[in-house]
Amino acid sequence: MEFVFQRSYRGPLKAVILDWAGTTMDYGCYAPAVVFVKVYKRKNVPITMEQARVPMGAHKKVHIRQISRMEEVSQMWEKVHGRKPHEDDIEAMFQDFVPLQLACLADYADLIPGTLEAVAAFRKRDLKIGSTTGYTGEMMKLLVEEAKKRGYEPDATVCATDVPAGRPHPWMCLKNAFDLQIYPMEALVKVGDTLPDIWEGLNAGMWTIGLAKTGNEMGLTEEEIDTLDPEVREMKMARAYQRMSQAGAHYVVDGIWDVDPLLEEINARLARGERP
Ligand SMILES: [Mg+2]
Repeated sequence: MEFVFQRSYRGPLKAVILDWAGTTMDYGCYAPAVVFVKVYKRKNVPITMEQARVPMGAHKKVHIRQISRMEEVSQMWEKVHGRKPHEDDIEAMFQDFVPLQLACLADYADLIPGTLEAVAAFRKRDLKIGSTTGYTGEMMKLLVEEAKKRGYEPDATVCATDVPAGRPHPWMCLKNAFDLQIYPMEALVKVGDTLPDIWEGLNAGMWTIGLAKTGNEMGLTEEEIDTLDPEVREMKMARAYQRMSQAGAHYVVDGIWDVDPLLEEINARLARGERP
């Protein structure tokens, strides 16, 4: 056999899978960060907001565990408790986390400016809107309602608790494809504000778009970003862009309002036979 022919998908995009906090709502991705700080404070281990943000995007229990494994946190814990944190501590903190997060989630449910316009533009392209999140099913029930009140209703929502493992594993994206009955994965784009968002999209064989300004990488509200010293703002933004590009994101932009024009470009790449 002299030649083997390769099959390639040349059709257009069929769906966009959006993250929640820091992507469509909760500018600066504050809700979880604030509660991780509180949960550790209850154990007399004061962590900073920066430390709380490092594992963002993961399942919330995994997130608590990853914080506990950070060198400085682990040392602080040992000083206070006379031993390293173990799995019972993680479980206990997760039990604390759930009601605290549920209690304040609605306070951080405002949509990021441009979300409704972006979603309307995606729909105009006949794209389905899927979503993934590190929040639990219980938390998402509340957030889906809050989003609906504000005019945002994705066609599918998959939580870390709906699949064997959350990000960086691809399962939440694959379940979206399953629920929306869409394939191949080259016809889907993942949009999110954290490195695990990018990893989950890449692991699922999708195109990925990182959001540098509105989410966990900046970790600030729109007002806070506006009042930053311009030099500091520039430096922080450049760092966010670099981190997401290095994670393998196909594109990095400021926020969801910048996504629609990129879809045109991805469609052109697909038509040429390119793959994510
Ligand atoms: Mg997020």
